Amino acid sequence: MNDCIFCKIIAGEIPSSKVYEDDEILIFKDIAPIAKIHLLCVPKEHFAYLSEADGARAQMLGRTLTKIAGLRGRLGLSEGYRLVINQGENAGQSVHHLHIHILGGEPLPWGGQ
Ligand code: 5GP
Ligand code: ZN
Repeated sequence: MNDCIFCKIIAGEIPSSKVYEDDEILIFKDIAPIAKIHLLCVPKEHFAYLSEADGARAQMLGRTLTKIAGLRGRLGLSEGYRLVINQGENAGQSVHHLHIHILGGEPLPWGGQ
């Protein structure tokens, strides 16, 4: 995908603070964090929406969730974390390459608490 900012980060054409990489995913620091720890986990294969996650992609996403859970200590998330996928306009998705926000490092507000 030529104009995709996350594809450019994956390709190393745009610098990022990488915290984990393997053959399927890259995890790097969000440029505008909304929590003490705010990471973005992106599949290396470009696709924009969960609705495009067919069998193989669904399996990759399942492995990805398991990897994130396994990495929690290394990522500083032992006390807990929140995963968020913004999908489409109503969710304010601004980058159209599927990504999982990983939030933590402090107590996270929920429902006005
Ligand atoms: P969305 O709103 O699409 O769910 O989230 C996109 C996220 O990507 C935002 O939290 C934004 O701060 C982050 N972001 C956008 N451009 C860049 C960039 O060039 N580098 C990094 N590290 N994060 C970015
Ligand atoms: Zn992309």
